[in-house]
Amino acid sequence: MTTQDPIYLDNNATTRIDPVVLREMLPWLENGYGNPSSVYGMGRRAREATEVAREQVASLLGTRPSEVIFTSCGTESINTAILSACALDPDKRQIITSAVEHSATLKLCDHLARRGYEIVRLPVDASGRLDPEALRAAIHAETALVSLLWANNETGVLFPVEEISRICREHRVPLHLDAVQVPGKLPIDFQALEPDFLSVSGHKLHAPKGVGALVVHRRIKFQPLLRGSQEASRRGGTENVASIVGLGTAAQRAQEFLDFEASTVRAWRDRFEETLLATVPNTAVNGDRELRLPNTSNLSFAGIEAEGALLLLDEAGLCCSAGSACTSGSVAPSHVLLGMGCSPERARASLRFSFGRLQKDSDVDAALQIIPRVVAKLRAVAPAPTGGSPVRFAEPA
Ligand code: PLP
Repeated sequence: MTTQDPIYLDNNATTRIDPVVLREMLPWLENGYGNPSSVYGMGRRAREATEVAREQVASLLGTRPSEVIFTSCGTESINTAILSACALDPDKRQIITSAVEHSATLKLCDHLARRGYEIVRLPVDASGRLDPEALRAAIHAETALVSLLWANNETGVLFPVEEISRICREHRVPLHLDAVQVPGKLPIDFQALEPDFLSVSGHKLHAPKGVGALVVHRRIKFQPLLRGSQEASRRGGTENVASIVGLGTAAQRAQEFLDFEASTVRAWRDRFEETLLATVPNTAVNGDRELRLPNTSNLSFAGIEAEGALLLLDEAGLCCSAGSACTSGSVAPSHVLLGMGCSPERARASLRFSFGRLQKDSDVDAALQIIPRVVAKLRAVAPAPTGGSPVRFAEPA
């Protein structure tokens, strides 16, 4: 770690642990190492701590504590939900998802396709929006599950989850929502929304990596992915008590900071985005600007290569992403932006900036100094087919 704090605009990739969360966790890593399944005092106290965390997570997600299962990450929650639905209805061989899902869903669906499942990947429009009527049209008697994002990790664009849930209930098809990007950024009411499964992940809301949760509606039959006696036999493996306590505290803090996220974090994002649009020519927003998480700004800067930009921004102390973090390091353009009809050239010229509640107002000013300089530098050296001035992108089809 460097001594200088980075300007961290990559909160959709992961977040800094909230110091309050860390403080609550530390005793469980030092002396509170009892196994929650043990009957003596140390074990019982660890059990009580996990149950307090379960209540805190349930309260943030608007569900009952008994419906919350702790897992190791969002990816495990997603895999558990999808595989549970497949296992419990083995005659149904179709899964409906979208073209812009996180790789946790995409890769599992690719795997299931190789095992004979029909995977329907619903398209999105140029703004990243999904038409619920396309979902209605795709559902048939063979549909085992619908699994969709609530908020896209790359663009922040929101899917119409109320309508999606209504359609799935009308057709009695189980629904899994990948809500990994939502807690702390928008209110969640699982009971009102009524999906069957909902996945979340600790490290996106200022808890540590290596802990997540899956909410399973009490009405639905469930099959565990990891068999064992913990979590009421729904997820085997000795509980990661410190991280579960961290997730519980983070959930409570996320609830307390919801208004801050909706006002201050949104205002940082908007000031950042509007200033860049006004001052850096040939800059465009990727994704719907209204139906979007309050913290995310995905921008394309015509004439740059995001890979090069990331290196220069890093040198200047600014962290952001090209495409999703899990696929960065590869030069493949983002499947999310391609799915929205962006050209590969525009997708490769796109950067995602995601704000978080633990940063400072001055980070926005510093970012607004650095980014125009880096974009100008890259444009100056880019091969320019139009004789020096960068290409203007057409809006995605
Ligand atoms: N789903 C979405 C939308 C995500 O953004 C991520 C993480 O980037 C995941 C799932 C996977 O979560 P985890 O990193 O906890 O496995």
